[in-house]
Amino acid sequence: MSLAAQSLSSLRRQLTAGEISSRDIIEDAVSQISARDGEIGAFISSESKTALTEADEADLSLPLGGLPIAIKDNINVQGSPCTCGSKFLSGAYTSPYDATVIKNLRAAGAIPFGRTNLDEFAMGSSTENSGIQLTQNPAAPGHIPGGSSGGSAAAVAGNFIPAALGSDTGGSIRQPASHCGVVGLKPSYGRVSRYGLVAFGSSLDQIGPLTHTVEDAALLLNAIAGVDPRDSTSLDAEIPDYTEGLDQGVAGMKLGLPKEYFTHGIDSQVRERVESAAKALEAQGAELVEISLPHTEYAIATYYIIAPAEASSNLSRFDGVRYGNRTENPKDMLSLYTDSREAGFGSEVKRRIILGTYVLSSGYHDAYYLRALKVRTLIKKDFVQAFEKVDAILTPVAPDAAPKMGAASGDPLKHYLADIFTISANLAGNCGISVPLEPVDGLPVGLQILGPHLGEQTILRCARAVEVL
Ligand code: GLN
Repeated sequence: MSLAAQSLSSLRRQLTAGEISSRDIIEDAVSQISARDGEIGAFISSESKTALTEADEADLSLPLGGLPIAIKDNINVQGSPCTCGSKFLSGAYTSPYDATVIKNLRAAGAIPFGRTNLDEFAMGSSTENSGIQLTQNPAAPGHIPGGSSGGSAAAVAGNFIPAALGSDTGGSIRQPASHCGVVGLKPSYGRVSRYGLVAFGSSLDQIGPLTHTVEDAALLLNAIAGVDPRDSTSLDAEIPDYTEGLDQGVAGMKLGLPKEYFTHGIDSQVRERVESAAKALEAQGAELVEISLPHTEYAIATYYIIAPAEASSNLSRFDGVRYGNRTENPKDMLSLYTDSREAGFGSEVKRRIILGTYVLSSGYHDAYYLRALKVRTLIKKDFVQAFEKVDAILTPVAPDAAPKMGAASGDPLKHYLADIFTISANLAGNCGISVPLEPVDGLPVGLQILGPHLGEQTILRCARAVEVL
């Protein structure tokens, strides 16, 4: 197996035993990318000069010493272009600083290498909204890789890189992980600093790992978790060693199956995979409990008010003056802004800005935005009550396995509705993980395991039990 295709934990063993060098891994990643990524399109850029220098100086005694990690192209890495998958920034913005997650990765010895494709500003669930390129699903060519972290998922699934970081505002780590057949973890809100992640929905965004194995997700979470004075929403909570206790199994665990998640609209084979994974965990000593999350039916509407509202505010900084591309020869000050935004943003981003501005506008603010915030509280309460009864919740990640490319183009609502199983965790601030199950007709399918706020250890342990089924 090529080095770039292996897990972080296995590479780490070989590195510390002196069998391979960090340079070997990065050189292998570079050759895999140049040989095969032309067809997949996982990477927007894969400049390797800095990474190779860092590889030669890597401190192998550190937990991620010498290991390359690909970075979604909406996370700032000093000296590296950051496009957010947008024409607005492409060729026109180089990060002047490291995001806190990048600083933390470096402190653990890891080497950021390669920038992965995404839906523009992380808005979408197929990576087809990228303003830069399309990404194919390496497990199923002709199918979407999911999104918005589709490049990160494809980079790992395509065996170009051992692991990657993504961001998840409404499912953007878990859903592409499910569609590509890799592990994807969305940490609890506040567990990981958002400083240096280009903001989409600030009350929902979290950065997290996409990896080959559950242990690798735990290793990466160890490195990136923690409080940060530059992000006031990051939490000063103890950071356990997430790799500990992974193999303790699920005996005695109570696992909830929310009845609202197993109704119409879900592909029968996807449903069958999830239910049989639940049965297998029951056979290992877990207790399955039917639970109710009664406000699930309002989750899509709530998310698609709050996320665009926050996006419309966050994206106001892209005005052609401060960042990125600006229109040439504007006729006046106002057209400098409007023409730059018109030319720079793709249609999904414009749709979100219009939607968000509308729900925040005077006269509509109370009817839409304020009401959505109230429903968000109800959704949160559903989870608080559920987690009084169960340790974790098992659900599908998406209603279907990866659709064909273009299957939902021109139908944004179709995309929005498919987010039903992932967005509630973001609205509630909880953690969630997608772990691969048996594919359906060759298409990967993930199981979502949702945990309470800061319940990462529980869901990792449960995901590990699924992995070895
Ligand atoms: N699919 C969702 C959206 O389009 C989630 C995106 C994300 O998590 N970044 O908003």
